[in-house]
Amino acid sequence: MTDKEWVIIGGGVCGVAAAVHLIKLKEIDSSRLMLIDPAPELLYEWKRKAARTGMTHLRSPSVHHLDVEPFSLQSFAKKYRWKTGFSGPYKKPSVELFHAHCDSLIQTYQLKDSHCPDTVIKLDYTKGKYVISTQHGQTIVSDNVIVATGRSNQLNQPDWVKASGLLSTAHIAHVLSSADISDQEISKPLLVVGGGITACQTALKWSEKFPGEVILNSRHDFRISEFDSSPGWMGPKLMASWSDIDDPQQRRAMVSKARLSGSIPGSLNRRIKKAILSGKVHFVKDQVETVSKNSNKLRVTFSQKDALTVKSILLCTGYDQLAAVPEWLADFAVQYNLPSAPCGTPLPDSRLKWHDGLFLMGPLTDLILGPTARNIAGAKKAAGLIAQA
Ligand SMILES: Cc1cc2nc3c(=O)[nH]c(=O)nc-3n(C[C@H](O)[C@H](O)[C@H](O)COP(=O)(O)OP(=O)(O)OC[C@H]3O[C@@H](n4cnc5c(N)ncnc54)[C@H](O)[C@@H]3O)c2cc1C
Repeated sequence: MTDKEWVIIGGGVCGVAAAVHLIKLKEIDSSRLMLIDPAPELLYEWKRKAARTGMTHLRSPSVHHLDVEPFSLQSFAKKYRWKTGFSGPYKKPSVELFHAHCDSLIQTYQLKDSHCPDTVIKLDYTKGKYVISTQHGQTIVSDNVIVATGRSNQLNQPDWVKASGLLSTAHIAHVLSSADISDQEISKPLLVVGGGITACQTALKWSEKFPGEVILNSRHDFRISEFDSSPGWMGPKLMASWSDIDDPQQRRAMVSKARLSGSIPGSLNRRIKKAILSGKVHFVKDQVETVSKNSNKLRVTFSQKDALTVKSILLCTGYDQLAAVPEWLADFAVQYNLPSAPCGTPLPDSRLKWHDGLFLMGPLTDLILGPTARNIAGAKKAAGLIAQA
């Protein structure tokens, strides 16, 4: 049985930010800390998704990263002389630079040694300690636990996909899926479904390989917004009114309204419009009604436009709106009668503590941190709060 001071469940953006903040702000020795994540390496899922969408830059500005000091990423870029690391007035970092910075944090704080490649399946609490059980039969005991599991298994699947039974076959894949998708399996003509940043980036990526044979399908015109929620949510401008509201249902409504899902930044709007004008990408604004398979082709019908025949479909339809509490955590919450909102989202305290020594991060903190909880900014904020609790 392994005994730790801190166990972080999930080795993504939130988990790594938490580890860095605990080590730097709370002076926790990395040997007293464990990050449990089934992936072969930390940040694996995040990097895989970034690569799949073909995104070149982050949507968030340079001060949003996994380190403690606000200008850490900029200092890193300067130190290693990254010439083309940032883009535009908000200094959005390139994916390459962001990953190099993350990797340097992982190396500096020896987080590879703290990574346990396994999946948590049960959480117990006995004599003031957490007992964590994993899929591979390990038992880990810890004084504190941070849940940073994101929502990788909560993909939003349109009804017409569910009805077809074709998801995760060689023909239809969700671009944010944790399952392996081989690029070799994706054939032209390709239909990319979705109207937000992931869909536009994915369509552009594949239009390089299949120029003129990528169809981007959205239910709406492109909605332009530099960020996925107003920057006012980062500071007192909007957070002051948030703090005045206690009712979780009202807070949930505020989060839904504030998150500008299905929007794209101006620079991406220009790139996708150019690709459409030049014929590299075709745009179909309509609602898909059905999809059916006929030999190795897919027939897609729309509510208004003519049907299309394609060979592959990539869904860029995001995640379910509400982040579900993982089953093993829900069992624990029921046993200890932990507070949650009518929508099911946990209600930890303002330091994100849900039970003695049990902390939450990411979308599970939506109703405490507000609309940025799911982003890198939210990961950084949560990590800081937990490390200073
Ligand atoms: C394509 C894309 C681009 C984005 N770009 C930006 C951006 O530019 N700026 C920004 O601020 N935000 C961005 N986001 C949003 C957000 O920052 C990311 O989604 C981020 O990955 C969320 O981090 P996370 O740690 O909550 O979740 P994840 O990165 O999904 O990490 C969760 C981890 O938990 C692990 N896990 C789950 N269950 C268990 C379990 N039972 N036991 C052990 N481990 C478990 C998973 O394997 C996973 O590795 C983007 C998101 C996507 C998908």
